[in-house]
Amino acid sequence: MTTSDQDRPGPHGVDHEHRDVSGGWLRPAVFGAMDGLVTNVSLIAGVGGGGGSQHAILLTGLAGLAAGGFSMAAGEYVSVSSQNELVEAEVAKEQHELIHNAAAEQAELVGMLRRRGISAATARLAAAEISAHPDKALAVHAFEELGVNPSELPSPYVAAGASLISFAVGALIPLLPFLFGVSTLWLALTLAALAAVVGGGLVARLTNRPFWRGALRQLVLGAFAAGLTYLIGLAVGGMAAG
Ligand SMILES: [Zn+2]
Repeated sequence: MTTSDQDRPGPHGVDHEHRDVSGGWLRPAVFGAMDGLVTNVSLIAGVGGGGGSQHAILLTGLAGLAAGGFSMAAGEYVSVSSQNELVEAEVAKEQHELIHNAAAEQAELVGMLRRRGISAATARLAAAEISAHPDKALAVHAFEELGVNPSELPSPYVAAGASLISFAVGALIPLLPFLFGVSTLWLALTLAALAAVVGGGLVARLTNRPFWRGALRQLVLGAFAAGLTYLIGLAVGGMAAG
């Protein structure tokens, strides 16, 4: 919490810690990495299954890393910005109402406070105090009506950068042997399987579920994706050869 937050009592003022239910960065980062891992191990398995050379596999893996990472970043950027634009438009509407319809907005605030269990007299008093400060009033209305804190919207650049990096980290894992000149498909598959176990298990632990259940699920799904792509590569490679 920053010092500017100190006069703003919030859920962190109490003496027990909650999990960050609104997200946190580790879970999306691991999900992004698992995305990159499954995508690239499948690409590598597909090209390898089709009889591609080490050079072709390396090229495919690097292209897959870049293409997937940029695509994830672009998607995340558009998603977060359009969500922010929607929130900003709604907050602006609320601000307009607060200026041009102050009495009705204050009455609305009394209603919100009463629904939270505050008595009529206290609610009227509190609403009057909150409404005396336009910026506080806007924050309360935005939070009550839109469920957002308008001064703490997520950055689309951070979201885009984070998904690019996490995807790239995952995508790099099955590519490592080829980068170091070891052209065995099995080594790439083994590395990917290990990463799937660790990543899947980590996500499970973050949500208080057993490590092995998450690990196994990620492993099975990843193996399925890579196995299917390998078979497609085998079939297409066979067709091209025959
Ligand atoms: Zn309002």
